[in-house]
Amino acid sequence: MSDLTTTTAGELSQADWQARYAGALMNTFGPPQRILVRGEGAYVWDAEGTRYLDLLAGIAVNSLGHAHPTLTGAISAQLGTLGHISNFFASPTQITLAERVLDIVVDGGAPEGSRVFFTNSGTEAMEAAFKLARRHGGPERDRILALEGAFHGRSMGALALTHKATYREPFEPLPGGVEHLPFGDLRALEAAFADGGERVAALVLEPIQGEAGVRALPPGYLAAAREITSAHGALLVLDEVQSGMGRTGKWMAHHHDHIGGGVVPDVVALAKGLGGGFPIGAVVGIGEHAATLLSPGQHGTTFGGNPVASAAALATIHVIERDELLAAVTRTGAFLREKIAGLGHELVAGTRGEGLLIAIALTAPVAPAVARAALAHGYIVNALGPDAIRLAPPFVLTRAQAAQFVADLPALLDEASA
Ligand SMILES: *Cc1c(COP(=O)(O)O)cnc(C)c1O
Repeated sequence: MSDLTTTTAGELSQADWQARYAGALMNTFGPPQRILVRGEGAYVWDAEGTRYLDLLAGIAVNSLGHAHPTLTGAISAQLGTLGHISNFFASPTQITLAERVLDIVVDGGAPEGSRVFFTNSGTEAMEAAFKLARRHGGPERDRILALEGAFHGRSMGALALTHKATYREPFEPLPGGVEHLPFGDLRALEAAFADGGERVAALVLEPIQGEAGVRALPPGYLAAAREITSAHGALLVLDEVQSGMGRTGKWMAHHHDHIGGGVVPDVVALAKGLGGGFPIGAVVGIGEHAATLLSPGQHGTTFGGNPVASAAALATIHVIERDELLAAVTRTGAFLREKIAGLGHELVAGTRGEGLLIAIALTAPVAPAVARAALAHGYIVNALGPDAIRLAPPFVLTRAQAAQFVADLPALLDEASA
């Protein structure tokens, strides 16, 4: 048996694989919950053949589910034709994808002059956004504002924008100038600009904070943020890495009236769902100023936007449009939130989120136990801190699959609190 076949066959038990994992991989993630070997649609199977309904989709990534034939077809066709070329060259897939991203990143299409830079991840997209902010206004604009609860990635620049102390502190000093303001607090935002507003290079926001528990900016906040950044000549940077690419039922979370209120940002970061599971990210400079802050030679990447990653993203966008999946996201998301809230279970405080980016708020700190019980009964969900469960299922999740989870949820909650 070759090493290649062992990655797909189930001859070894979970425990054997766990031991090999512990002996070979850095312990940054803790022990893996399961060793997974196969997926199809909204299901995945572990090394012992147990099936799970995947309600997390690789953390809001696998929008088309697993092993979608259009996606795998596009990837293998591109890889079998031309796989990688470096950015000394360009490919039709990359150019076409950049045009498609410009079509969908701003409601109604990005304004003239807007441009895309492709990366391999959300972190790299935010790292590029950080560099855009530094280039904007030069040394006189030495302040960058972000929000408490923010998650923007783990590289040194992205980490400087991220708020959580346990992520940041072991790596200080981080690139300077970043201040974290209380979440959704307009007065705090105004105060931050009232004193030294001309020194702010950028305000960085997630329209819906993902890692902080799936919380949307309050209505009016983003519109006010646009106004105040414009008034002070600062960039408005939106991190749509988790909330973008259709996850909330619109291409971008800020396209929802009650979140974005018609706002056009200066910079948008994308990744997660962009490639439907193939690694690719993007930072978009909206309008000519933001699009030209980085001049030739000031940024780069070997892999970013390579032909295969671009083909994957093009195929993902194509299927979302062809199969009208944005409408499906809205429908299935509303169904899940309504049915879960309607359970009337004493552990469910309510739900948050938009489309298929959902948090189930719990009345007790049992989220990790709920996630464990769910896994034991064939459901992949994610504990967001002690008292919230995140659901970010594939857009192809069927009504029947969603209903099955809702029907089983009370028993999972009971088991977790027992
Ligand atoms: C996941 C995430 C990132 C980081 O993306 P990676 O692809 O993990 O590097 C950045 N911002 C937000 C909002 C995210 O959810």
